[in-house]
Amino acid sequence: MQLHWDESAERFRQDLVEWLDAHAPSDDEMEAEPRLSTGHLPGWARKFQRAMFDDGWLVPGWPPERGGRNASPVEQMIYFEELARRNIQRAQNPQGLSICAPSILDRGTDRQIEDWALPTLRGEVTWCVGMSEPGAGSDLAGLATKAAVHEDRFVVNGQKVWTSGAHHADLCFCFVRTDTEAPKHKGISAIVIDMKSPGIECRPLEEITEQGHADFNEVFFDDVVVPRENLVGDLHDGWKIATGSLGHERAMLWINQATTFERAFQALRRAVTPTEDEALKETIAAHYIDLQALWIMGYRGFSKAARGRPSVESSILKLYSSEAEQRLQLTAVEALGPAALDLSRVSGAKFTRRLPWMMSYFRTFANTIAGGTSEIQRNIIAERVLGLPRG
Ligand SMILES: Cc1cc2nc3c(=O)[nH]c(=O)nc-3n(C[C@H](O)[C@H](O)[C@H](O)COP(=O)(O)OP(=O)(O)OC[C@H]3O[C@@H](n4cnc5c(N)ncnc54)[C@H](O)[C@@H]3O)c2cc1C
Repeated sequence: MQLHWDESAERFRQDLVEWLDAHAPSDDEMEAEPRLSTGHLPGWARKFQRAMFDDGWLVPGWPPERGGRNASPVEQMIYFEELARRNIQRAQNPQGLSICAPSILDRGTDRQIEDWALPTLRGEVTWCVGMSEPGAGSDLAGLATKAAVHEDRFVVNGQKVWTSGAHHADLCFCFVRTDTEAPKHKGISAIVIDMKSPGIECRPLEEITEQGHADFNEVFFDDVVVPRENLVGDLHDGWKIATGSLGHERAMLWINQATTFERAFQALRRAVTPTEDEALKETIAAHYIDLQALWIMGYRGFSKAARGRPSVESSILKLYSSEAEQRLQLTAVEALGPAALDLSRVSGAKFTRRLPWMMSYFRTFANTIAGGTSEIQRNIIAERVLGLPRG
C-alpha cells in the first residue's frame, strides 16, 4: 500500500504551488472590487481565470486547448487538494465552469463551443442555470416553463426560482418544456437564453446569510424569443443533459467538502476554550472522527475511480459531509451562545466573506439542499448502493 505521492506527483504539486503564489489574486484586489453574486465576475476574477486557462491550470484533466494539461487522476487530486487547502476558487461563476461549459462541450455544436463554452472557460461570459421552478425542484421532470417551438425560434413563458446569480449573468442554461403531450421526462429541451432578451425579469431574493446581498432570484419569462440555433443537444432530449455526463470531476468534489469541514473543525477548536464539560469534549471528539472518516472514505472512493472501478462513495460523501458540517456548526453556536453572532471570533478565509458562527450554521442548510437534498441522497443510496426496493 502506497501512502505517499511519488516524485513526479510532488513535482506537479510544486509547479502548481509556485504558479498559485505568482498569480492568485491578493486580498486587497478582492476587497477593492467585491464579487456581487455567483453570476458576477469582477476584474480580478476574470484575470485569474484567464491566466488559469492560458497556463493549463483551469481544468487540469482536460487538454491544453480547453484550459488543461492532460493531468493524470493523481495530479488532478493534488490540484484539488492544493486549491482547497488555500481556499482558492478557480472560477467565481461555478455554474458556468462546472455545468454549462461541460454540457456544451459534450452536446453542443462547433459554433456553440466556439461562441459559449470557450469564452466561459476564459472567464469572458457568466451563466445562471434555470432548472428549479416553484413546482419542480427535486422532481425536476415536473418543470412547466414552456417553449413554443417555431421553425426559426422558441418563445418562452414561465418562471424559474432559486436561480443563482441570474441578475448578473450574461446567459441562462435553461430547461424548458417543448412537448406538453410526451411523458414528462421526454418533453424537455435545454436552450441558451441571452439574459438581456426583452421579456425577462429577475427578482433577487435576499438571504439571511448574505447580509443584504442576493444570489438567488425568481426569473420570469414573458414571450421571450430565443433563436432556434440556441438549442443544445436534440429537441425534447434535455433530460439527458440535466441528468447527464457532467461527472468529469465529480470524484474529486469531496476534497473541497472535507477541507471546508477541516477548516471549520480547526476554527471550532480555536473558538471554544478548553473546558471541563465532558459532554462537549466528547462532541468535539465525535466531530474529529467525522473528519477522519470523510478523508478516509474520500480517498477510498478516489482510489477506486482512478483505477476505473465504480465508486459508490461520492453519493455518500455529499450527504455525510453536509450533515457533519451542520452538526459541527451547531456545536459551535450552542457552546458560544451570544458570541456566535460576534464577527471578530470568525477566522477569515481568502475568497469568502467573513461570517459569524450563527450565519455559518444557517449557511449549512444550503449545502443539504443544493445539488440534491439529503432526503433525495438517502433515496439514491438506498436504491443504488444498498439495493433496497423503492418505497
Ligand atoms: C445554494 C443553492 C443554490 C441553488 N442554485 C440553483 C440554481 O442556480 N438553479 C436552479 O435551478 N436551482 C438552484 N437551487 C435549487 C435546488 O436545486 C432546489 O432547492 C433543490 O433541487 C430542491 O428543490 P426544492 O427546493 O423545490 O424542494 P422540494 O423538491 O420541493 O423538496 C421539499 C422537501 O421535500 C423533500 N422531498 C422531495 N422529494 C422527496 C422524495 N422523493 N423523497 C423524500 N423526500 C423528498 C426534500 O428533501 C425537501 O426536504 C439552489 C439551491 C440552493 C440551496
